[in-house]
Amino acid sequence: MTKLIKSSQKNPCPICKKEDWCYQLSPSLWCCKRSDEAPLGFHRTTKQDRDGAYYYAVDDDPSDWEFKKEEWAKKEAQRKLDRVESQQQEFSTQLTSAQRDPLIRSLSQDCGLIREHYQMLSNRGLPDEQIKGRLFFSIEQFQKVGEHYPLNLPGVYRSPFGDRQLKGKGIAIVTIDADGLATGWQVMNDDPRPTEPDVDFCKYYWAKGNKSSHLPIGDGELPIQTSGTASNPDTIWECEGLLKPVIASDLIGERFIGAAGGLFRSSPIQVKAALKDVQTVIIAVDAGDVVNHHRVRHWRLETEFLKSLGLEVLFAWWGQINKTENDIDELTPDECSSIEYLTPDRLFAIANSQLPEKEDRLVSETEPEPEPEPEKALDNNNPPVKFSSNYQDGLILHTVEKQDDGTFQPQQQRIGNHLEASAYVENTEGAETGVLVKFRNQRGKTSQVLIPRITLAGDGLEALRFLVDRGYHYSRKQKGLLLDYLFGLGCEVVRV
Ligand SMILES: [Zn+2]
Repeated sequence: MTKLIKSSQKNPCPICKKEDWCYQLSPSLWCCKRSDEAPLGFHRTTKQDRDGAYYYAVDDDPSDWEFKKEEWAKKEAQRKLDRVESQQQEFSTQLTSAQRDPLIRSLSQDCGLIREHYQMLSNRGLPDEQIKGRLFFSIEQFQKVGEHYPLNLPGVYRSPFGDRQLKGKGIAIVTIDADGLATGWQVMNDDPRPTEPDVDFCKYYWAKGNKSSHLPIGDGELPIQTSGTASNPDTIWECEGLLKPVIASDLIGERFIGAAGGLFRSSPIQVKAALKDVQTVIIAVDAGDVVNHHRVRHWRLETEFLKSLGLEVLFAWWGQINKTENDIDELTPDECSSIEYLTPDRLFAIANSQLPEKEDRLVSETEPEPEPEPEKALDNNNPPVKFSSNYQDGLILHTVEKQDDGTFQPQQQRIGNHLEASAYVENTEGAETGVLVKFRNQRGKTSQVLIPRITLAGDGLEALRFLVDRGYHYSRKQKGLLLDYLFGLGCEVVRV
């Protein structure tokens, strides 16, 4: 009988280049569980294993490699085209800003704003006409909406009972673009969570129903916020978030743009449209940003981006070194009148003098922003693992196990209730980060919580306690697997 050798770190599969799942049958024969196509130097045989994975044999004659190389390059080019096409297909079903605008306006009217939400916005300093004009609306849990709202309007989805509902619960903060069109919204979740030690812990997430909030422009840009009228048309202000620029524009009396997480460079088409005729951008960094090296790095990259558009960049400064200071939307009249305008060099000099570690200070301007890293990776020496999760079956680990007859059989292990990540989030200060997860709780209902990234540090047990505390149920034997899954979420989830 043929002796099978599993792919491993030392002996990765030459077809898909991965270190798990696939196996070698002989020095010149591999079975690849992932790929459907032979790379250069291999050809796909007609033989398949039980799971339908093909065997790939080493090419006998290296002389036809040249020909294969060409063929391979052609196929690679085709794949690229296919990717673009599938993105275009996705785009073709996404509503444009002009299509979204009347729907969001009507939705805002239909849903209205409950008194608590109105009071909250009013307490933040927004006058009545702003609260009405900016289309804020309240979303209740399982809020039903009319059948005329299409399923490709972000936030709208078809419930299991066949009606249309909105996802989330809280205040919808509507984005309005440079042309005055309502382009989307983020939900400010109003789960008060009295047990939470950090009372400031706000959760914002993009409307997501059957479709995401991405607009069918560029690489799928997320909407940005514009607000207010400029005292000087050459100048625009910029700050993080979607609500903050609305309040700040009212408070300061200037025109603002805002982006979730301050990620303006991810929405270049909208930024360029909003910055038409503008020469100077004044960035109002949040209190505490200059003592947070991730945020400093972030603003360096934003500065570079704005400079690449030919703009002058200045930073508004009112001494907001520490988080305890006010943000731009909370300034007192005294602070408003004492704002200084710093060049990027001066602002980053302040940041350098505040950051404790040397390596934090010497941040290269071109260094990419760090993605959240998993504190612990999956063990490559263990059998291949793949997780899946759905509401009915729960969170499942899929592995492949070698049988006595030498074949490999797929196996499944249930870890716990359904649990999936909906977003990677930054809070309003941009400092704490976390993974927003949705899960089936003990009562069979869907819960949503933000797992602060800090709880995944070390052994990660704090993250588990956090989840259990909020009603997540899992098998205690599978604690390790659940942790692996959570660590994986922290690194794979895309920022939205
Ligand atoms: Zn493979």
